[in-house]
Amino acid sequence: MAISLDTPIQFLKGVGPRRAEAFKRMGVETVEDLLYHVPLRYMDASTVVPIGRIEVGQDVTVVGRVVSSGVMSTRKRLQVFRAVLQDDSGVIECAWPGQAFLDRTIKTGQLLLVSGPVKFFHGRQLNPREQIVLADEGTDGEGMREGVVLPVYHATEGLPHRFIRKLVQENLDAALGEVEEAVPADVIESLALPGLRDALRRVHRPDSTADAETGRRRLAFDELLDLQIVINRARQLASEIPKGPTFVLRKDLTTRLKDTLPFVLTGDQRRAVREIAANMTSTTRMNRLLMGDVGTGKTVVAVFAMLLALENGYQAVFMAPTELLVEQHGESIASLLAPLGIVPDVLLGRFSTSEKESVRNRIASGESRVIVGTHALIQKTTEFARLGLVVIDEQHRFGVEQRAALVEKGARPDVLLLTATPIPRSLALTVYGELDISTIREKPENRLPVTTSIRTDKQRDRIYRFITEQCTAGRQAYVVYPVIEESEKTDLRAATTMAAELSEQLAPIKVGLVHGAMKSEERDKVMRGFRDGAVSVLVATTVIEVGIDVANATLMVIEHPERFGLAQLHQLRGRVGRGAAESFCILLKPDGRPTPRLDQFKNTDDGFKIAELDLKERGMGELVGARQSGGLALKFTDLSTDTDLVGEARRVANQILEADPRLSSKKYKALRHRVERRYQRGMELFGIG
Ligand code: ADP
Ligand code: MG
Repeated sequence: MAISLDTPIQFLKGVGPRRAEAFKRMGVETVEDLLYHVPLRYMDASTVVPIGRIEVGQDVTVVGRVVSSGVMSTRKRLQVFRAVLQDDSGVIECAWPGQAFLDRTIKTGQLLLVSGPVKFFHGRQLNPREQIVLADEGTDGEGMREGVVLPVYHATEGLPHRFIRKLVQENLDAALGEVEEAVPADVIESLALPGLRDALRRVHRPDSTADAETGRRRLAFDELLDLQIVINRARQLASEIPKGPTFVLRKDLTTRLKDTLPFVLTGDQRRAVREIAANMTSTTRMNRLLMGDVGTGKTVVAVFAMLLALENGYQAVFMAPTELLVEQHGESIASLLAPLGIVPDVLLGRFSTSEKESVRNRIASGESRVIVGTHALIQKTTEFARLGLVVIDEQHRFGVEQRAALVEKGARPDVLLLTATPIPRSLALTVYGELDISTIREKPENRLPVTTSIRTDKQRDRIYRFITEQCTAGRQAYVVYPVIEESEKTDLRAATTMAAELSEQLAPIKVGLVHGAMKSEERDKVMRGFRDGAVSVLVATTVIEVGIDVANATLMVIEHPERFGLAQLHQLRGRVGRGAAESFCILLKPDGRPTPRLDQFKNTDDGFKIAELDLKERGMGELVGARQSGGLALKFTDLSTDTDLVGEARRVANQILEADPRLSSKKYKALRHRVERRYQRGMELFGIG
């Protein structure tokens, strides 16, 4: 079958509906998506460990000749394929339980690359997660050993990276044949970057890691360029269009809120409120991002903005990404507004048809003034009488489309986006170039800092006792497991086993489990149980639903903290310390050995500082999630090393837009097409169609 970039991934040989579903979870739906699903890392000779130096407990990659191999049966009749590998420094036994079929592909004399954990079993034994034959018997593998670079892909449950690698390699040439160069040649030449096809080839099939890096930089430049083009164009257009609503600071509802608040606003909150009020009462439309760590109190700031809209006779809407969050916001906003006699309306997807209809009727008639909801709000059937302000919480959880769909429910309303992923200012200017930014760094004073400690597996019993103590005192705890890439299945099993073990050990304390492979209704049910106190200990894999707010939870245990990014650890820690009780974060590292990064994490609670550390540590890492405009944006850029590309992209974007603001000439046709694809709304930005 001839493939095009639009070919659904499901139609590729070997994929099928189930794997297509797994691909979809990673945002890969077409051949083009697959092409841009670039390797997470590369393995080459520089990451290979001499066999003589391997130790039990390590996770290693080694290269050696197969000196003997064969299939053995264990007493439990499990067929195990085994091979002994040798290099200049020593020999090691490798064992593949249940994979007798490897006997057909792995032969004595071959040069083999394997990677996986080293266990103790009659001596050192490596259990390969993956293996690749570098050279056959009799052929010299030395040159290859130096040269071979193995791409490792981000994988997910039911989709091992080895499968992805094979699929990419099988379809790479055909897919590359379809790739169109979108950036004019003179621009590319001026930057000394490879052509697009060449870059994609280098990324997926590099001759060296430097080669892969060159390819990546080209992809990074492209996404930065598209981003800058969209940002610049959006700003240009925004300045031409007058804003819809007119707001005057009447100090009616806003002042009453201030007078009835159960706490005093922090300085940063007051400043944010001032900035927002100034923006809303000016003649330019507000398009603002409110950035602040978890627990800094963004909601109440948003409520001020909403009241400013209300006191001018407009409606205000607050959208959040999950039903659970909406329920929580609904309640907390209701209690803030109760003294003012304002009752917010809540709209959830799971409401019955008649319930939804009655809420929608109130919204359409203008009877509802403050509305809190999930994306049920953006359905066609929701119409607002007079929408003046749109607030979107955890804004990165929504696509550009979804955000825009809500905004379009009004006549150019003001927009306030909230994010709990703080990033350094210089970076924010790039990543959120089209937005104005208000920042909250300060935490409310009544917060006790969370005590963070690093513990070893040997202290597990003590930790369990501590969990019991907290729960017996009426508090609640989280236990979080990493479930990442290649070992996802094993991880998931470990987490499930651990939940069962905890359940037994902590009985009668109630333990619940949530993980990514669960249906969302099931997950919500367990989390509601936790929120309502029916479940005391929540075992969770991946990241706990953003923003679950259980003030009663005082303990966060993180297993294998070394496998999480710093920003991710910080988000997790932010789940506790939300009430007034003393809270704890325990990093349960198997060997208990502190590392500089975990120490740094332990010693600071400043989200911005951690964001900077995280950025240094893993480039864009978590921050990629900070902006998922259209899905592809800033996937390749590493802002800690690519600052030169950022500058170049900005320069080139300005140059191009100055020459051709709508990208309507032939020269920029392909570029316009790409921007439109990457940002599905690019079309409108360029005033076409
Ligand atoms: P986030 O920024 O994570 O969204 P929230 O808006 O949910 O934070 O606020 C977290 C908690 O802090 C809420 O219970 C809120 O009522 C409380 N809070 C907000 N501002 C203050 C303040 N200035 N002083 C004390 N508590 C506050
Ligand atoms: Mg929040």
